[in-house]
Amino acid sequence: MRIPLLAANWKMNMTRREARVMVEDLLARVGDLRDREAAICPPFHLLSEVGSLLAARPSIRLGGQDLYWKDSGAFTGEVSAPMLRDVGCHFVIVGHSERRALFGETDSSCAQKVTAAQNHGLVPILCVGETLEEREAGRTQERVVSQLRGALQGLALDSGERLVVAYEPIWAIGTGKTDSPEEANRTMSLLRATLAELFGERIAAQVRLLYGGSVKPENIDAFMACREIDGALVGGASLKAESFARIIQFQ
Ligand code: PEP
Repeated sequence: MRIPLLAANWKMNMTRREARVMVEDLLARVGDLRDREAAICPPFHLLSEVGSLLAARPSIRLGGQDLYWKDSGAFTGEVSAPMLRDVGCHFVIVGHSERRALFGETDSSCAQKVTAAQNHGLVPILCVGETLEEREAGRTQERVVSQLRGALQGLALDSGERLVVAYEPIWAIGTGKTDSPEEANRTMSLLRATLAELFGERIAAQVRLLYGGSVKPENIDAFMACREIDGALVGGASLKAESFARIIQFQ
C-alpha cells in the first residue's frame, strides 16, 4: 500500500554541470520506476535545471531542502512554498538535523513549515532523530516522539500520502555508522503509533517512514526488508549516480 520512496538530499553540493552529468547518468541506469518512487532534493540554484532533466520521469520527483512559511515578502535569503511549487517541487525537507543544529530550527518553526508546505500542495519530509548523548541516555524514543508531536501540532491531515517522516539518528548522519535495521524499525513503529494517536490508524498507515543515516548500496536491502521502513533519505551516497541507482534498485 505504501510505495517505497528513495530520496536524495544533496545538501550544499554540486555545480550545474556536475548535477547534469549525475542526473543523466542516473536516468540511464534506473530506467522507468514502476513499484517505487525516487526524489532528488538539490540546493535551490539547481532546482530548475534538475527539474527539467527529470521532467520525462514522473516517478523521480523534485524536492526542496527547506522553505520559509510566509508566501513572499522581506525575508532575505529565504524561499517559500509557492516558489518551490512554481519550480516543480513535489517534496520539501523540513527540520533536517543540520538545520536544527546549525540554523536554529525548532519544533515550532518546523510546525509552521509543515503547514505552509501542505497548504501549497507540497509533501513535507519531516526529519526527526536523536543525538548520540540522547541515545546513550536511553532517551531516543522520548526525543523522536516529542519532535514528531511538536512539528505536527495543530495539523489537520486528511491523507497520510501528504506527509513523509524521516527518522535520522543524528550520530548516523554522514558518519558511516548506522542504526541496526531492527532498532530503526522499532523506533519507527513507535513513530507510526504516535501518528495513529494524532491522526487515526487509517492515515498513520498511509504515511511513509524513511530511515536516514549513512544509507549505502551495501545496507539498503536490509533496511528495506523491515516492516516499518518505507524508504530512505540519503545524503552522501546520493551524490554519485552509481550508488544512488543501486539504492533505488534495492532488492
Ligand atoms: C542526510 O543528510 O539526511 C543523511 C542521511 O546523510 P548521509 O546519508 O550522508 O548520512
